[in-house]
Amino acid sequence: MEPMQLVIGGDLISTASHQEIRSPSTGEVVGLMPLATEADLDRAVRAAANAFESWKTTSDAERVDACRRIAATIEQHAEELARLLTLEQGKPLGGLGSRFEIGGAVAWTRHTGEIALPVEVLQDGPEGRVELHRKPIGVVGSITPWNWPVMIACWHIVPAIRAGNTVIIKPSPNTPLSTIRLVQLINEVVPPGVVNVITGDNRIGAAMSRHSGIAKVTFTGSTATGRRIMENAAPTLKRLTLELGGNDAGIVLPDADPKAIAEGLFWGAFINSGQTCACLKRLYVHDSIYDEVCRELAAYASSVPVGDGLSETSVLGPLQNKMQYDIVASCVADAREKGGRVLVGGDPQGGPGYFYPLTLVADVDHGCKLVDIEQFGPALPIIRYRTVEEAIAKANDSAMGLGGSVWGKDLARAKEVAARLECGSVWINRHGTIQPNAPFGGVKQSGIGVEFGAEGLKEFTTVQTVFC
Ligand code: NAD
Repeated sequence: MEPMQLVIGGDLISTASHQEIRSPSTGEVVGLMPLATEADLDRAVRAAANAFESWKTTSDAERVDACRRIAATIEQHAEELARLLTLEQGKPLGGLGSRFEIGGAVAWTRHTGEIALPVEVLQDGPEGRVELHRKPIGVVGSITPWNWPVMIACWHIVPAIRAGNTVIIKPSPNTPLSTIRLVQLINEVVPPGVVNVITGDNRIGAAMSRHSGIAKVTFTGSTATGRRIMENAAPTLKRLTLELGGNDAGIVLPDADPKAIAEGLFWGAFINSGQTCACLKRLYVHDSIYDEVCRELAAYASSVPVGDGLSETSVLGPLQNKMQYDIVASCVADAREKGGRVLVGGDPQGGPGYFYPLTLVADVDHGCKLVDIEQFGPALPIIRYRTVEEAIAKANDSAMGLGGSVWGKDLARAKEVAARLECGSVWINRHGTIQPNAPFGGVKQSGIGVEFGAEGLKEFTTVQTVFC
C-alpha cells in the first residue's frame, strides 16, 4: 500500500514514517498516514506565508471563482471521497452518511464562496468619513476532528481563503485520509501554498497552536483540547475560533405528539451514530407522555439497520475508535448501575469493529455519566420531568451550551421555552439541523466564536477602521 503524502506549497511531500489507518468496521488497514515532523510544519508555515503575500491581494472575483472551482472538484470526485471517508470513519455511504457529508461540503463551499464583506461606511458627513474594512489575518491553522472530517475541513478552509488568508490544515490522526485527498484536489484549482495539509499525532496540533507564524487557529473538537489550544496560543495572542463539545438537551412538552416526533428525536440523537457535536444528548420528557415517547422511540430505533458502512443496506455504522466506544460503554454501564432501564440496545455483540448497538436508557437522571457528560455515541438517556420549570433548570444545568431543542404543538409556547435555554442554537420540533447561511457556535464551554454565514466569515478577518 502506497503511503499518502503531505501537501505543502503545492508539492506532494513524503515523510520518513507513517501510521496505519484502520477501518472501524473491520479493523483492516485502509491507508497509511504520513507522520509530519515539526520541520514539516515550519515548511508548511513558510509556504503558506509566501502564498499569503499574493493571495491577500487577489480580488473578490478571483476568490469567489476559486471557491466555485473547489466546489466543482469536490463534486466531481464525490464518490471517491465518500468511499475514502467510509473506509476510515465508518459511516455508511448512503443515508445521512458519507455521500451526504460530501454533498454538505459542496453546499457549504458554494454558499460561503459567494458571501461578500463589502466596506461599511460608518459615517459620511461634514465631520468626515469613517469606513470599516475587513482584512485577512494571515496564515490560518485548522485543526479538525474525526466525526465529519471532510465537511468540517471545508467549514474551515473555505471561509479562510474566501477572506484572503492561507491555510494549513491538520486533520485528526483517526481520519486523515479523506482530508489529504481533499487538499490534493483543492491544490489542482488554487495556487500553491494557499491550502496545505500536514498530518501526524496530537503534538503537531499543539505545535501549530504555539507557532509564531500562524496568526489564527480555527478548531473543532473537544472542550479539553480547546483549552490546551487557548493556553498554547496565548503567548502569540492568536485569533481563535473554537467549536467544542456539547451536551445538548431536548425538552418534550406535554402537548407533543409522541408518534409524530419519534423520527425527528431519533435522528437528532443518532445521526452519525451520535458522534456529532450538536446531537441531542439528553432527552427530557413530560411525565404525562413519558411512556408513550419511550415506546415510539424504541420502536423507531429497533427498525434502523446498523452495519459496515460499505454495505448499501447499512443506515448507521460503528463508532470511529476504541476510545469513544469505551466512553459510551462505560456511560451505559454507569446508567444501569444507577437504576437506568435499557429500552433497546445496551449489549454489544463483540466481533470485529467498534459497533455499539443503538441504545435508549429510561428512568435516569442527573448524577449519572450518561446524562452529565458528552457520550458522543449511540446511547440516549431519557429523563422524566414533572414541571417545565424543572426541565428548563435541568437542561441549563451543564457547563456546555452548544444546541438545544423544544418539542410541542403550541409553537409560541415552545419558543418561550426555547428562549430560556442557554445554548448557541435552538430548534423547535427538530434538532441539530444546520445550514450554511445561519451562524453556528456554542456558549459557555462549548466554544468561542461562530461559523457559517457572514458572521462566520468575519471571524477570518481583522477590522481596519479608515478615517478619511
Ligand atoms: P479532540 O479534541 O480529541 O481532537 C480534535 C483535533 O485536535 C484532532 O485533530 C487532534 O489531533 C487535535 N489535538 C489533540 N490534542 C491537541 C492539542 N494539544 N493541541 C492542538 N490540537 C490537538 O476531539 P475529537 O475526539 O477528534 O472530536 C470529538 C469532540 O469534538 C467531541 O467533544 C465533540 O463534541 C467535538 N466536536 C465539536 C464540534 C463543534 O462544532 N462544536 C464539531 C465536531 C466535534
